[in-house]
Amino acid sequence: MIKKYDIVIIGAGLGGLQCGAILSNKGFSVCVLEKNRFIGGTLQTFPRRGCDFSTGMHYIGSLDKGQMLHRIFKYFKLFDGIEYKRLNDDGFEIFNIAGKEYKYAQGFDAWRSQMHHYFPADKKAIDKYIARIKATVDAQDIYVLKEPGNDAVQNKDYLKVNAFREIQSLTTNKELQNVLGALNFVYAGDKETTPFYVHALINNYFINSSYRVVGKSDQVANALADTIQKNGGEVLTGKKASQFVFEGDKMVALETADGERFYAGDFISNVHPAATMDMLATGRIKKSFRNRMNKLPSTHSAFGLHLNLKKDSVKYFNYNYQYFKHGDVWFASAYNEKKWPEHYFLHTSPLTGNDEYVSCVGLLTHMRFEEVEQWAQLPINNRGKDYEAWKQEKSEKMIELVGQQFPEIKENIVAHTASTPLTYRDYIGTHDGSMYGTSRDYRNPMGSYVSPRTKIPNLYFTGQNLNLHGMLGVSLSSLLTCGEFVSLRELINEINNA
Ligand SMILES: Cc1cc2nc3c(=O)[nH]c(=O)nc-3n(C[C@H](O)[C@H](O)[C@H](O)COP(=O)(O)OP(=O)(O)OC[C@H]3O[C@@H](n4cnc5c(N)ncnc54)[C@H](O)[C@@H]3O)c2cc1C
Repeated sequence: MIKKYDIVIIGAGLGGLQCGAILSNKGFSVCVLEKNRFIGGTLQTFPRRGCDFSTGMHYIGSLDKGQMLHRIFKYFKLFDGIEYKRLNDDGFEIFNIAGKEYKYAQGFDAWRSQMHHYFPADKKAIDKYIARIKATVDAQDIYVLKEPGNDAVQNKDYLKVNAFREIQSLTTNKELQNVLGALNFVYAGDKETTPFYVHALINNYFINSSYRVVGKSDQVANALADTIQKNGGEVLTGKKASQFVFEGDKMVALETADGERFYAGDFISNVHPAATMDMLATGRIKKSFRNRMNKLPSTHSAFGLHLNLKKDSVKYFNYNYQYFKHGDVWFASAYNEKKWPEHYFLHTSPLTGNDEYVSCVGLLTHMRFEEVEQWAQLPINNRGKDYEAWKQEKSEKMIELVGQQFPEIKENIVAHTASTPLTYRDYIGTHDGSMYGTSRDYRNPMGSYVSPRTKIPNLYFTGQNLNLHGMLGVSLSSLLTCGEFVSLRELINEINNA
């Protein structure tokens, strides 16, 4: 007998699981299919010699009571059994820019005072900057948990402002410009293309408040999967979606790589739109739509280094640390691989929330896919000696750089593991290992816009490729996608009243 669901969801990343939880809460029968052995996508952690390293969820913002993510987490019951640790009030992020350190304090009042203290001659520019951030966030209904109006994308002027130039227009002080732009790694900022609204959303999100998940970040994925299962839904691993099946003109099922068919009324794809197009035979979707999805610009990929340290040798850091070798925090737009690495983002995970020492430390920095392209066709875990030697050389360079600020880290490394753009490609399923999926371009807001609706009436998109990446961006995409099935107004009300 053929089993048929209301909705089949491809990908058990944050977006797929949240859609599954919302829609199963609303009584739909859902089935989430995940290609990997474990669910979570970039929420996954992976074990290495006693450490559980987080793939892509190192900290989250706006989690103070009443703030955006707090309301969303309450709705999803993500405070039940999961602990979060608040990062340092006076510096959740420390930036070392060309040898000088600056801290970002939590809460806009504290952040403003700290910036005034660093730049006493630029108080007006700092206040103007905060006002611009607030106005830009408030202009985007969904980011303040309001039902979005019907304005066409092309009429939204805030989409057409460049982040780097907007900051430049507020102050001529280059040092201040750098400090204001210094979080750009966490949105893969590009000098030439990144819109100011992306910058505003992310800075607002983390400055409001910043936290880490205590222990493994995949607890969030497991809690969402539990909700789906308690609601009678299914979450299946080892199920790689390979092609959509049609009866006449109607899409009726999804076939996985092992030949199993999952029938449903509707389908939601939590994977990259281009990867979704690969599941549709020629002629099944408008050529122009397919071409646009295939050409969506991507954010950079990354090189990650995961360090196991000697027990009780390095004190726990209750903050992230970002190092920029030179006085240009937007250098990634044109980084030079010969000079690599010129930046790193250092993060640690609290094991219990009260740990005095840390034995697992992660480093991340930009890397373009082209650097690994020569090994792209070789099988996982067997890419040859050249690739291993290249990884080792890159790892040593990163360790050398971090050792300049943190000799105690360099001296106490007992083992290290590297992730390259190929690792991100293979585990997440993006074509080019892009860190945060599709990128936005202020010069062409329509070209980089992805709607939850596709040109097939019962196929929808969700996840980081829609609006914005990260815990907040993906959560909001989930609301927009589910708003295609249930009343968005009601859903937003439920979240605001959770
Ligand atoms: C290195 C890194 C660091 C990051 N740090 C942070 C951070 O500190 N804070 C933050 O908020 N965000 C961070 N992010 C971003 C955040 O992790 C992501 O934006 C978010 O988790 C993406 O969720 P998603 O559901 O859209 O996609 P994904 O997590 O990519 O989920 C997609 C899922 O689909 C599965 N899949 C793919 N193809 C198929 C197929 N054919 N069939 C079935 N399943 C398939 C994948 O295996 C995956 O599980 C980071 C990301 C990276 C890469």
